[in-house]
Amino acid sequence: MEEKEISSNFIEAEINKDIANHVYENNRVLTRFPPEPNGYLHIGHVKSICLNFGLGEKYKGATNVRFDDTNPTKENVEYVNSILEDIRWLGFTWKEPVHYASDYFPELYECACRLIKKGLAYVDDQTSEEIRNTRGDFSHPGKESPWRNRSIEENLKLFQEMKEGKYKDGEKVLRAKIDMAAPNVVMRDPVIYRILHATHHRTGDTWCIYPLYDFAHPLSDAIEGITHSICTLEFEERRPLYNWCLQAFESKEKPRQIEFARLNVSTMITSKRKLRKMVESGVVSGWDDPRMPTICGIRRRGYTPESLRHFCELIGVAKSDNTVDIAFLEYCIREDLKAKVPRIMTVIDPIKVVLTNYPENKTEELVIENNPEDESMGSRQVTFSRNIYIEREDFMETPVKKFFRMTPGKEVRLKGAYIVRCDEVVKNDDDSIKEIHCTVDFDTRSGTPGADRKVKGTLHWVSADTAVDVDIRIYDYLISPDDTEDGKDFMEKINTHSLTVFEGKAEAAIKDYQVGDRFQFLRKGYFIIDKDSTKEKLVCNQIVGLRDTWAKLQNKK
Ligand code: ATP
Ligand code: MG
Repeated sequence: MEEKEISSNFIEAEINKDIANHVYENNRVLTRFPPEPNGYLHIGHVKSICLNFGLGEKYKGATNVRFDDTNPTKENVEYVNSILEDIRWLGFTWKEPVHYASDYFPELYECACRLIKKGLAYVDDQTSEEIRNTRGDFSHPGKESPWRNRSIEENLKLFQEMKEGKYKDGEKVLRAKIDMAAPNVVMRDPVIYRILHATHHRTGDTWCIYPLYDFAHPLSDAIEGITHSICTLEFEERRPLYNWCLQAFESKEKPRQIEFARLNVSTMITSKRKLRKMVESGVVSGWDDPRMPTICGIRRRGYTPESLRHFCELIGVAKSDNTVDIAFLEYCIREDLKAKVPRIMTVIDPIKVVLTNYPENKTEELVIENNPEDESMGSRQVTFSRNIYIEREDFMETPVKKFFRMTPGKEVRLKGAYIVRCDEVVKNDDDSIKEIHCTVDFDTRSGTPGADRKVKGTLHWVSADTAVDVDIRIYDYLISPDDTEDGKDFMEKINTHSLTVFEGKAEAAIKDYQVGDRFQFLRKGYFIIDKDSTKEKLVCNQIVGLRDTWAKLQNKK
């Protein structure tokens, strides 16, 4: 088969140009993925990871992982480890070793001193509020700080004193000396170092001044020899500052910043800050709650790395912000699992059916294929017996139009078994259904000659004799797919009824599977065995439903 050409995008076009112009030695390509270890990665980061590592692979270059750990108050090792695990799980390999912006604190400090010596940075005594208030705006120039024209010697001395811990948090900052009237507000003497008496998860108490992202990032790129520094669109206006900072680092090759649009997916929140709030407020069970759009949540939900990578490939790289419909991600996981996983029968919300003409002590072992799309997956034996379970929603006492499932007086086929006719509904005192009585047509056993009499519905079922109890988690979206930006706080929009747990009945074959195994529950969707399973009780998460034509029909009405 011909290999599918990976869609070429505008970032590749830029890299191709650099290659044509021999901008980097040996036309090397080195990208990086630079997460801040202040939370767990989410679906948006998947896009960034696939893009950066994808380019590294495509151009036979490499990709660094660099933790942007310049804010010690919010960062920790738990996040570092989870991020590395997520990248590995997605199937990418970074160039060793793992890098940290904090590795470069000494160099960054030297670079800042160099800027001061060039007259390109100064220590400002204004408070952060004063600095903000004198920045001006789009239509007004900023106001120069009274400390802007300190001598180089004084600046060097003060900066060193900042480093030595002589001042309190916020008492002084180091600012780049660019232009307070620059049309781009970003260029109005941005702060590049601040005082923060906080213990850093790697450097401990060695430092009490920390570089800001805008300064640390370009220099870290330069130190590592990154060629293409790919980031999201909100950094576009900061690109001049990125390039400005590079002059503090006198390397012959300069990294290039290229921006692309963030990935947004309907129903999914892609902000670590908001996700943390959800975890802390307890609306979800943790970062890896299967409803969460975090990579660990998506993984636990049962998505495969292949499906996520394929998703990112299909949506491509955009230059303007947009939102991808969650249905598209769901399509990708269905496509991936369709031929890959076995199918078994599980009744999620059971009602009991008694087959009144089937002998009490008789059982039969029926042979059912594991995946009709792939014969090589073989078949299994499924026990059939007098007492079985079917799905509650597969029965209607007074059927509506076009309901072709079980209903009094009508026939349906039990998958892989017989055609049965529903004779009677037995009720409890409160009028709820106790059990349904049916009779079997013994001439219709699947696979036997002449059995192929046409009936409209085929139902999945489980023998009550051999059924395995399983808790089944069915999920709804945390945020409604047709949510509009109405200014409401996101916490108010969260669907607190997005998890329903059913006490289901699975066929015995489920006992052959382990935590992390996936399958299709026939007619119900794709599921994975969750880590909450115990010896006594299996727990399954619904990964995604099948396309439900019945529900669609209902919605149309
Ligand atoms: P958040 O707002 O969730 O904290 P962030 O951009 O601050 O996101 P970082 O850890 O700094 O998170 O991001 C690491 C990399 O991932 C950056 O290069 C960033 O541009 C990229 N990234 C983050 N969110 C998205 C997204 N939604 N789509 C594409 N790339 C993203
Ligand atoms: Mg960030």
